[in-house]
Amino acid sequence: MNIYPEFHRFLQREDKESLLGQRGIVVWLCGLSGSGKSTIANAAERILHQQGRFTTILDGDNLRSGLNANLGFTDEDRLENIRRISEISKIFVSQGIITFVSAITPRGELRALARERLGNDLFEVYIKASFEACEQRDVKGLYAKAARGEVPNFTGKDHSFEPPSQSDLFLDTETSSVEECALSLIAAIERRITPASPSTGLQAH
Ligand code: ADP
Repeated sequence: MNIYPEFHRFLQREDKESLLGQRGIVVWLCGLSGSGKSTIANAAERILHQQGRFTTILDGDNLRSGLNANLGFTDEDRLENIRRISEISKIFVSQGIITFVSAITPRGELRALARERLGNDLFEVYIKASFEACEQRDVKGLYAKAARGEVPNFTGKDHSFEPPSQSDLFLDTETSSVEECALSLIAAIERRITPASPSTGLQAH
């Protein structure tokens, strides 16, 4: 291959992080459609923004209307969807940005792919609500459509959702409010996004 990736000439991640006064992280929210991923990402982002943090949201639904418009919901396409989202997240996190990803990510294999690409930068959050609760909310009208057989490979119906077993955080949106979920999430990543305090040269006695 005549492709030579070059990184050494670019400004480093540390340069970006010290400019922003924060450390980058990818907060990957997975869960059923309608479980609350976008709502929580949005609420958490607004709080962090007010605190002076630089954030962004990569929303799976939005990406499917642009970058991932050529992908469907077969196993192969879901894998490619997650590969692309992981790679974009990798670019954002390398700029020191607190990056929220909101994507169903229904199977262990897909989450493993994200973990493989992002390593320690990944903070996986399982946003849990039962199929029945999501069906009742039916924010996007998709559950009604799926019930009429109009959505092939619908997650939780004819395409399975494997609950994650090793998430860094678990939020149950049937028992906690949006605000509670957003605050728990921020508390859980606080240490990871705060820069190590510069050494004062003073030793504690
Ligand atoms: P997703 O992004 O997972 O597809 P959305 O965030 O678009 O889901 O929709 C979730 C719906 O559930 C919204 O209508 C939201 O108001 C509602 N909801 C109720 N309780 C919660 C909660 N604790 N966290 C997030 N969303 C909640």
